[in-house]
Amino acid sequence: MTGQITFTMIKPDAVEANNIGPILAMINKAGFTITAMKYMRLTKEQAGQFYAVHKERPFYGELCDYMSSGPIVAAVLKKDNAVSDYRKLIGATDPTKAEDGTIRKVFAKSIAANAVHGSDSDENANIEANFFFSQLERF
Ligand code: UDP
Ligand code: MG
Repeated sequence: MTGQITFTMIKPDAVEANNIGPILAMINKAGFTITAMKYMRLTKEQAGQFYAVHKERPFYGELCDYMSSGPIVAAVLKKDNAVSDYRKLIGATDPTKAEDGTIRKVFAKSIAANAVHGSDSDENANIEANFFFSQLERF
C-alpha cells in the first residue's frame, strides 16, 4: 500500500531567490495539503545527519555546506501516493534532465542547488518528517 505523506524542503537557493511562495503554490495546485511546516536554518551537523545515507558520495561535504548555508522551509505534505506523486512534481535531480513544468525545471539552479528535496520512499518520508517535527507540530 502506498503512503499518504511525503517530506519536502525548499532549499537555500530557492528561499534566497524568493521562490517559497511560487513553490508552495505549485505544491497546493498539484493536490498536496501541508500538514506541518517550519522556516529554519540547519547546522552543518544537522544537514550531515539528514543526508547521512550519502556520506560516502563525493558531493556529501558540499551538500552539507550548501544545505546549511541559509534558511530552508521544511514541510510534510499529504496526498494519496504522496511520495511518487511528489517525485513526479519535483522532477529529476539534475534540472537539465527535469521535465517541463516540474519544480526543479522551473526553479533549480544546478544539480546541487536544485530548489527542493522530496522523500524517496514511504519509510524515509516518515523518518524525515520525524527528524524535523514533533507530534505536536503535525496535523
Ligand atoms: N547532489 C549533488 N550532486 C549529485 C547528486 C546529488 O549535489 O551528483 C545533491 C542534490 O542537492 C540532491 C541531493 O544531493 O538533491 C541528494 O541526492 P539524491 O541522489 O538523493 O537526489 P534527490 O533525491 O534529491 O533527487
Ligand atoms: Mg534523495
